[in-house]
Amino acid sequence: MSFRMTIKKNLQIILSEIPDQVKLVAVTKTKPISDIMEAYNAGHRIFGENKIQELIEKYEQLPKDIEWHMIGHVQRNKVKFMAEFVSLIHGVDSLKLIQEINKQAMKHDRVIDCLLQIKIASEDSKFGMSKSEAKTLLKSKAYTECANVNVVGLMGMATFTKDQEQIKSEFEYLQNCYLEFKKFNPIFNTLSMGMSGDYQLAIECGSNMIRVGSSIFGFRN
Ligand SMILES: *Cc1c(COP(=O)(O)O)cnc(C)c1O
Repeated sequence: MSFRMTIKKNLQIILSEIPDQVKLVAVTKTKPISDIMEAYNAGHRIFGENKIQELIEKYEQLPKDIEWHMIGHVQRNKVKFMAEFVSLIHGVDSLKLIQEINKQAMKHDRVIDCLLQIKIASEDSKFGMSKSEAKTLLKSKAYTECANVNVVGLMGMATFTKDQEQIKSEFEYLQNCYLEFKKFNPIFNTLSMGMSGDYQLAIECGSNMIRVGSSIFGFRN
């Protein structure tokens, strides 16, 4: 079996395992256009990148019915490069960033959907807000004034560990935040958690959007 055939097969296996209401973001960072086209030709349309430059290059070269998700940390001065086409920005972690997304979305007469990234991992390196910071943001007047941004849910990344109990408790914490915020934010509809190593557990904990790279496209260098 060729490597390309494997991408289609991997996709089919994952899609057959996950419930219908769970969206699969196929994470294509570092992977060539030909690999993405293999997934596209197998019918997949939702792809995620974590670097703006790569996101833009791939957007320009690939079919325009792809739904592009920005899953990485976003620098404010880069928002303008993706505002025209990005479908969902997962890693939003400040009001200032929301205000910049709002400004750029207005220029294109769009409303851009975003997720707030909550820090659930114990490592220092993972970005994100605390629960109380996110809550304050969502209730602020400044956020309500951003008519061209909709925060539609939360995103998180668990600690890189083999300890399943720790990962589970981090996912459960994020699910609780999501359910609590949804009570005063009825447009909430997305809980983005789970990657190649932990998406089954994430779904058990209520995830309805998983971001999977290496299980589809193979290991990255
Ligand atoms: C790379 C990445 C993923 C996918 O990771 P895999 O382990 O390859 O599935 C998911 N989410 C984010 C934010 C990423 O940067």
